[in-house]
Amino acid sequence: MYKELGISEEVSNLVNKCEDELTEEFKKIDKITELNSIKVLNAFHKNNVSESCFNETTGYGYNDLGRDTIEKVFSDILGSEDALVRNQFISGSHALNVCFFALLRPNDLLLSISGTPYDTLHEVIGIKENNSSLKSYGIKYDEIDLVNNDFDYERIKEYLNTNKVKVIEIQRSKGYSTRKSISIDKIEKVIKLIKEINKDIIIMVDNCYCELVSLKEPTEVGADIMVGSLIKNLGGGIAPNGAYIAGKKELIELCAERLTLPGEGREVGPSLGINKQLLQGIYLAPSVISSAVKTAILVSKVLEELGYDVEPKYNEERVDIVQNIIFRDRNKLIEFTRGVQQGSAIDSNAVVEPSDMPGYDDQVIMASGSFTQGSSIELSCDGPLREPYIAYFQGSLTYDYGKLGLMKALERII
Ligand SMILES: *Cc1c(COP(=O)(O)O)cnc(C)c1O
Repeated sequence: MYKELGISEEVSNLVNKCEDELTEEFKKIDKITELNSIKVLNAFHKNNVSESCFNETTGYGYNDLGRDTIEKVFSDILGSEDALVRNQFISGSHALNVCFFALLRPNDLLLSISGTPYDTLHEVIGIKENNSSLKSYGIKYDEIDLVNNDFDYERIKEYLNTNKVKVIEIQRSKGYSTRKSISIDKIEKVIKLIKEINKDIIIMVDNCYCELVSLKEPTEVGADIMVGSLIKNLGGGIAPNGAYIAGKKELIELCAERLTLPGEGREVGPSLGINKQLLQGIYLAPSVISSAVKTAILVSKVLEELGYDVEPKYNEERVDIVQNIIFRDRNKLIEFTRGVQQGSAIDSNAVVEPSDMPGYDDQVIMASGSFTQGSSIELSCDGPLREPYIAYFQGSLTYDYGKLGLMKALERII
């Protein structure tokens, strides 16, 4: 049957052999999945999710029971006071943008303590010139790099003692960088340090790709506000678009007034019929994330076996659903990505090409043969065309499709 799919015996034997050695790793993931499922089911029960939540609103979107219930469900799952979960957010980047503009005012200082933020935020912040950036409104920005994949605690301390910082941004997942993603323990430690120096600094976390991979979320260890995309983890592959912001009530209010308009805030925003999909997505999220993490572990094991550098290694603790393969070869990155596209459900006959993308500095290649455009909780692989030619592999709605996608990709590089 593998042959019918164009998978050779060499590749299927290799992948199956590697899979046999992952029983212990998969067991650990299963435990996390069960505990996170308890969180989700509990939130559904507590907030009395009912069939009437599936009703839609149109126009202004007043009195949308489903939308308001979804926001309570999300805040309970994420252990936060409040949440804004909206289809009016175009993407995770848009929600991050709304969050920055909601929290910062002219002359305020924004500090990143996890190095340069995600590519799409460069024009938002003004790292790259744009007439609508935070910088164009007189909002200042500075950054402190990570050292050895951890926060530079000494420099952060010194900086906060000599500068008046309004918002600190922490990006957990690596984005298109070469560093490791940041664990919840490290987040907890640095938040403690910051709050000891000044409890009024707003700590904002870019939580993209990290939700429900561990047992705790940043808002449970002291972060004031956090942001993520619904076409990643918490959409469970079912949400057609949108993003969430979760955190302190008064900060969520500010974000709502920025997303819509001052005075109407969260009271408006029609759900346009997607409430059921958002609920089904968050319900499935623990197990979909589990499939994605297991696929990532398998990819890591197999590519390491083939002699490539991988990050993280198959037996390392997982912080997000992203698996890096450091190809150090432009052609290998392109071919592997093409293979992932060939193994996808949709547009499997498309030959992906590197191209310019809005918001990104380098050309990017992306395999996303997905039901939802650009969804990276679905089987996907992407990377900027720059040294050291790293593939960022994510997702798969089920482990089996992830494994098959990997096999198709291997056919193109072996
Ligand atoms: C994906 C991602 C974003 C942006 O999310 P989009 O939904 O693609 O706009 C921001 N930060 C990190 C770390 C990401 O991985």
